[in-house]
Amino acid sequence: MKLCPDIKDKIQSLARGEQAGKSFYLYDTRPMAAKIAELKKLMPAQVDIYYALKANPHAEFLKTAKDAGAKGIEIASKGEGEKAIAAGFTYDQILFTGPGKSEAELIWSVENGLHTIHIESLTEAHRLNQICEKRGKTQDILVRVNPNFDIHGAQTKFSGDSSKFGIDEDIFRNVLGDILALPHLNFKGLHVYAASGVLQVEDLLENCRRVFNLAREIEGKYKDLQCDIIDFGGGFGIDYMETGADFSVEIYAAELQKMIDSYGFQDRRFVLELGRYLAADSGWYITDILDIKNSLGKKQVICRGGSHHFRRPVALNINHPLVIIPQNKPKIFEAQESVKDEFVYIGGPLCNGSADKLAPKGAQIKEANIGDILIVGYAGAYGYSMSHLDFLSHPHPDEVIF
Ligand SMILES: *Cc1c(COP(=O)(O)O)cnc(C)c1O
Repeated sequence: MKLCPDIKDKIQSLARGEQAGKSFYLYDTRPMAAKIAELKKLMPAQVDIYYALKANPHAEFLKTAKDAGAKGIEIASKGEGEKAIAAGFTYDQILFTGPGKSEAELIWSVENGLHTIHIESLTEAHRLNQICEKRGKTQDILVRVNPNFDIHGAQTKFSGDSSKFGIDEDIFRNVLGDILALPHLNFKGLHVYAASGVLQVEDLLENCRRVFNLAREIEGKYKDLQCDIIDFGGGFGIDYMETGADFSVEIYAAELQKMIDSYGFQDRRFVLELGRYLAADSGWYITDILDIKNSLGKKQVICRGGSHHFRRPVALNINHPLVIIPQNKPKIFEAQESVKDEFVYIGGPLCNGSADKLAPKGAQIKEANIGDILIVGYAGAYGYSMSHLDFLSHPHPDEVIF
């Protein structure tokens, strides 16, 4: 993993100083700010960049999104909405997505005038309409559609299968008329988020193409209907293992521009709600090696922190890049184990073997000794807040800002 010298220095000084004897996250959101600036420069003028808050809800990430000029925030709960407001976003900069929005959440949304509520089912459409009716309000909505095609190679798919997200494309065609007839809902367009963690630009462009076709189809069928807003969701991937297969924003932007022009959609707004792509490389998880032992011929590297602090690798069964910084600590006893050019298991202290790994695929390690610092990269997205922090009642890691 490429580790900038200033990050490495900072980690070392924290690990030897105020964070000694602890595990922690380090956040430096300069990469996130740079990515937002780049996207704003490259994307067609009709595209708005929103930050998908769940990727990292820490105030520093929200502040960065705001300062870097993100158009707004995508939330999936009232709690997330309150964090966005606390960070200085306004209610009309908030998109509310996600299945199973509670009545209280919908009331909060309507009373505060959120930008759009993204309808995930027919029930939700009716529930929201009733809430609006009682309050004499009308709410702008997008309808989320579960597309009936598959995106290959994505880490997580929201398409081509039974899904709790959105309304199946085929059902959508039948029920759109009913939704349009609800007097307190103002249909603004479509939301189709097909997959997360996509590295192949063409796969996400295929999603755009299909949504454009669907927009055209329904606009042909309902005379007064126009999809003023088309939301492509998130999904720009991160090349976690640094294979060189980065998602190409340049190609995506150029091809999307062509598509907008060829469909004559220059008068529409397009939404990207990006989480992982913006946040992942702005954070690191840092722990240290407490023990190394040999078990049935394989080394077990046991760290102070484990999946309770950083659950994502185990939850998705993927490795993140690892860096070990030697600390040359005095030996505890002469014959203690170390690692040299070996394929090892790396996990934490939880009394739970298979579910407590920091590198679930195992890892080839050049050198490691007890007391060394272990850094797990790309931990800025789906890190701290996605972890089961209270399991085994270890201390929570601090989140340190660079
Ligand atoms: C999680 C989520 C996102 C962000 O997804 P990434 O893959 O991190 O970009 C965007 N939109 C919705 C509706 C989401 O649930």
